[in-house]
Amino acid sequence: MASLSASISCRSSPLVSPQALLGEPEERRSVLSHLPRSPACRVGVLPSLRRRDLSKTIHASVTDVSVDIAMKEVQLPKGETWSVHKFGGTCVGNSQRIKNVANIVMKDDSERKLVVVSAMSKVTDMMYDLIDKAQSRDDTYVFALDNVLEKHRSTALDLLEGNDLATFLSQLDGDINNLKAMLRAIYIAGHATESFTDFVVGHGELWSAQLLSFVIKKNGVHCKWMDTREVLIVCPTNSDQVDPDFPESEQRLEKWYSQNPSKTIIATGFIASTPYNIPTTLKRDGSDFSAAIMGALLRARQVTIWTDVDGVYSADPRKVGEAVILKTLSYQEAWEMSYFGANVLHPRTIIPVMRYDIPIVIRNIFNLSATGTKICRPSVSEDDDSHKLESYVKGFATIDNLALVNVEGTGMAGVPGTASAIFGAVKDVGANVIMISQASSEHSVCFAVPEKEVEAVAEALQSRFRQALHAGRLSKVQVIPNCSILAAVGQKMASTPGVSATLFNALAKANINVRAIAQGCSEYNITVVVMRDDCIRALRAVHSRFYLSRTTIAMGIIGPGLIGSTLLEQLRDQAAVLKEEFNIDLRVMGITGSRSMLLSEAGIDLSKWKELLKEKGEVADLEKFVQHVHGNGFIPNTVLVDCTADSVVASHYYNWLRRGIHVITPNKKANSGPLDQYLKLRALQRQSYTHYFYEATVGAGLPIVSTLRGLLETGDKILRIEGIFSGTLSYIFNNFTGKRSFSEVVAEAKQAGYTEPDPRDDLSGTDVQRKVIILARESGLKLELSDIPVDNLVPEPLRTSASAEEFMKKLPQFDQKWTKKLEEAKAAGKVLRYVGVVDLLKHRGAVEQQTYEKDHPFAQLSGTDNIIAFTTTRYREQPLIVRGPGAGAQVTAGGIFSDILRLASYLGAPS
Ligand code: ADP
Ligand code: ASP
Ligand code: MG
Repeated sequence: MASLSASISCRSSPLVSPQALLGEPEERRSVLSHLPRSPACRVGVLPSLRRRDLSKTIHASVTDVSVDIAMKEVQLPKGETWSVHKFGGTCVGNSQRIKNVANIVMKDDSERKLVVVSAMSKVTDMMYDLIDKAQSRDDTYVFALDNVLEKHRSTALDLLEGNDLATFLSQLDGDINNLKAMLRAIYIAGHATESFTDFVVGHGELWSAQLLSFVIKKNGVHCKWMDTREVLIVCPTNSDQVDPDFPESEQRLEKWYSQNPSKTIIATGFIASTPYNIPTTLKRDGSDFSAAIMGALLRARQVTIWTDVDGVYSADPRKVGEAVILKTLSYQEAWEMSYFGANVLHPRTIIPVMRYDIPIVIRNIFNLSATGTKICRPSVSEDDDSHKLESYVKGFATIDNLALVNVEGTGMAGVPGTASAIFGAVKDVGANVIMISQASSEHSVCFAVPEKEVEAVAEALQSRFRQALHAGRLSKVQVIPNCSILAAVGQKMASTPGVSATLFNALAKANINVRAIAQGCSEYNITVVVMRDDCIRALRAVHSRFYLSRTTIAMGIIGPGLIGSTLLEQLRDQAAVLKEEFNIDLRVMGITGSRSMLLSEAGIDLSKWKELLKEKGEVADLEKFVQHVHGNGFIPNTVLVDCTADSVVASHYYNWLRRGIHVITPNKKANSGPLDQYLKLRALQRQSYTHYFYEATVGAGLPIVSTLRGLLETGDKILRIEGIFSGTLSYIFNNFTGKRSFSEVVAEAKQAGYTEPDPRDDLSGTDVQRKVIILARESGLKLELSDIPVDNLVPEPLRTSASAEEFMKKLPQFDQKWTKKLEEAKAAGKVLRYVGVVDLLKHRGAVEQQTYEKDHPFAQLSGTDNIIAFTTTRYREQPLIVRGPGAGAQVTAGGIFSDILRLASYLGAPS
């Protein structure tokens, strides 16, 4: 009779009475030992079920023989006939979703199904919040509990009717009343024990499992719901985790099944009992683990984990928009991904299923067409495929809120027991060491712990090593806060040459400072510690480097004048093709003029940037602009494109490069400015992985700087560079053939828009002088701009003329001199040309008006073309010639654009 009376008094779901939970373990055990063993009492049994099961219960308690007979009759079949499903909180988030889950379960044509459910979404958080409120004596816990009640009541009203509804609601009310009493006790005590907390927070699963089983039954399918606290036995460990007791759990499952045989079982996730039958949990997100344990106990065919994403992504999809779904993962890879922060799977889910080679499939309940991710033993064919670099790296995961602890000192080397003493001290404060790294010099040991534990760890180490620190055997115990771990996970990646180099190269290119590195002997992961602020950028940089996402570059355009706006047009027209065909994702995050600037979080719509700049533009502020473009936190690479001719903008390049910002420009000011600054800039560019491209400073889009570099880098020796570098002066001398006077040709050029507004700016030769110094320095000459003599074509008396108009008016006065020069040249069978020269043999450069034979390539020029001849050791007889239009907005912007694409390919875009 004991069981009968107990089953009536024990109306609600608690495994033990609330009072029993208040005591200490010893007391609990004694309270529990008085509790009847019948499951009808130990779990929350619905009144209707209780009535139906009553005779069985009495019968079972009266004679053991009949139990044995019953158990023999319904022995638990194990193996392939079972399929296990787990539905996460969002899957059962409301009544409609619960119906949907019921349909999926019913459609699965496996012979036997065990379905593990989480609490409805947010419910576990709400339950923890109840505890927090009650503990801190905040009496709004009462309202918060009402919300929990209301959420489940309204869901039940939507889903159930008649007896089922009444049964569920009375169960729910009973549970809520008990919880109210318990929370009141916590409120008074101002403290909740761990088991009390576990008991309270597990209710979400009890309710969701019952609701789902009612809905399935309503559809005419026989099914039983299981309070897993009756079956799953777990032992608490020191590290805030629990270890399943598989043999005990298996026995209990067999017993449970013999009393509740069914081909469809709906089981609670998350909750379990200790060996003393005290309710406990598998810790946050533990339902995945519950499903894996159940799968192992049943030796199931497969465990399907249903969630709200299409499977395991190559990185957290909330952090990396371009992450891709991984079709398959090995058990080890899945474990590493989850351990290092991919919370799509609880890390402990893998071990139980791995033991029996049971595959786990992760699927999206909201997208049934997606096949999901299969976690299993890797097939042989996959191994064959693994010679590709990318296939060694499966994905990336991150853990935030960590601190590094660095214990350093010469006295550590070769002293056995130092590491053990360090980690002993850490263990004593109960801190969880996430990663360890020790240099082989044994000079320092460095490890990562959760930020909230670091203070205690540092204190423990200071005290443990007080003497060693005092004696100088240890120099310091240093804490580096605000760190994150970035882990790259993949089968055998760590042992494959080139993989880690590529990884670190990607980090270096994104200018991420790596604080510590660990590479497990498991060969499945490489772990790096970076500063938290760099973490998302680091994640994106490495992710994109392994071709998992596009080479994304954040761009800031400075100076949207004629060239800048032409570049923006070209970018607009080409962006889609670059993205689709070349995997290059260029995002203009900001455009700034001298007065106003336009900033964007995700990238400016280039089809209407002018309107946007007018409507949404803010006051230009170069530092804020740079901060915005570079500081977006998730795009791995930043480039600033300076389309101005401003020396103030150019003076920032050094600083930008130092901050890891790439610079691309047609602005000649930096490279033709003071020599020491130029040398500093180039030295920095060579040391760092930051790029500085300036092809368009000479000859617009013509490949002049890159040709010169190519020659130098391949070991050719430059003897002389000579060329017509000014489109304007090219036009003037190509057309000054004797038909018109010199001043008429200048006026014509001005008319056609080939000159600067004041043609003296072209005729003075300073622009050519700057180009010559750029090429001279590129070739290795250490010259100042003033070392390049210039033939100034502006007649001396006109240099001070007030305006361009006045200059143009007076220019004809000097025509005669020009006509004479031309006649003389013609008489010698030559033409006049205005050229820049770099003479590497004499270590000098010059800008001068020269004459050339009629058959010289420079004499064949037309229009505004530039022509540049490189005479080198290899090209001594016939110089290497580059010729083409060397001015104009389209070709200059094109030159800048090709620098941008060169940058993308340096950063890893496919070629
Ligand atoms: P459930 O409640 O179904 O157990 P979780 O919220 O625990 O769902 O886990 C799913 C979430 O995990 C996804 O919504 C996703 O935001 C996050 N997540 C983090 N890293 C990854 C990853 N690498 N792949 C897929 N999802 C990930
Ligand atoms: N409901 C529990 C939690 O939110 C367990 C789970 O959903 O996996 O932590
Ligand atoms: Mg989860």
